[in-house]
Amino acid sequence: MPIHTLRNLGLAGLLVLATGVSADPLQAQPARSAVAPAVLAAPAHDITRFKIGALEAAALFDGTITVANDGKTFGVGRSPAEVAAVLKTNGLRQDQLELGIQPLLVRSASRILLFDTGAGDASFARGDALQASLRAVGVNPAQVTDIFISHAHPDHVGGLLGPRGGLAFPNAAIHLSAPEWAAMRDNKDQSVLAAAIAPKVVTFVPGAVVLPGLVTAVPVNGHTPGHSAYEVASGRDRLLYIGDSAHHSVVSVQKPDWTVEFDGDAATAQASRRALLRRAADENLRLYAVHFPYPGLGRVKAQGDGFVWIPETR
Ligand SMILES: [Zn+2]
Repeated sequence: MPIHTLRNLGLAGLLVLATGVSADPLQAQPARSAVAPAVLAAPAHDITRFKIGALEAAALFDGTITVANDGKTFGVGRSPAEVAAVLKTNGLRQDQLELGIQPLLVRSASRILLFDTGAGDASFARGDALQASLRAVGVNPAQVTDIFISHAHPDHVGGLLGPRGGLAFPNAAIHLSAPEWAAMRDNKDQSVLAAAIAPKVVTFVPGAVVLPGLVTAVPVNGHTPGHSAYEVASGRDRLLYIGDSAHHSVVSVQKPDWTVEFDGDAATAQASRRALLRRAADENLRLYAVHFPYPGLGRVKAQGDGFVWIPETR
């Protein structure tokens, strides 16, 4: 969820996000009382643990974001009915799109890595469960050595500060691409956050090997000025953390060329999304998608003019 989206949303739009109540006439609106308010923190959640070669990893549930199918966010320029048809074919609710938020934890012999930090207490998400998820896997925030930020939108950097404004992960280096950090520092809405994290920020050139043998940045252009995916490696095993290269497991994957309002440079983001999915399908890459249904672990395969998400089952 980008900042400009939040700025552009009027109160009505925020209420739609907050309550999940859609103005879409395609489907009857749910009773307001049946929808949990966004201000409630996400409930406790089972943790999915998995391996990347010799590395221990865990999907850390932070929360969810609900987006109305109103033609303004997914499939901009297309009718809500066209988006609804894709959702219906896949057995999903048609009046809204549900996104997960699950930062990734990876433990090596000497480091504890965190990929993005969730939404914190941002009002547009039902989130802020990251710290509880960390506790559930036995990690103290002070033990985290490295944080990798895909980009500076609030659902990815919202967990960097604690409730009193101090660093939530006091001993961690905060890695992000140089252009993303430059854009973040120029963003007046993030001046407090940028000042707080500045002493911990370590920038890299897009595509750089960030931690040799362990983490390599993969530029995926268009979403934000320096958006980055990350490849995590252990021996021959690989996992690609895709950041916001694709937001929704059905619409973004099956219709990668559809415009997403969250993408700052939509045309570039669409080309990047298709290229990433093409490569992932061709190379049978194991993916970790921060916004797909929890735990966001799986692969894609080509289907028709697009692709299809195959979640990993165990
Ligand atoms: Zn996001």
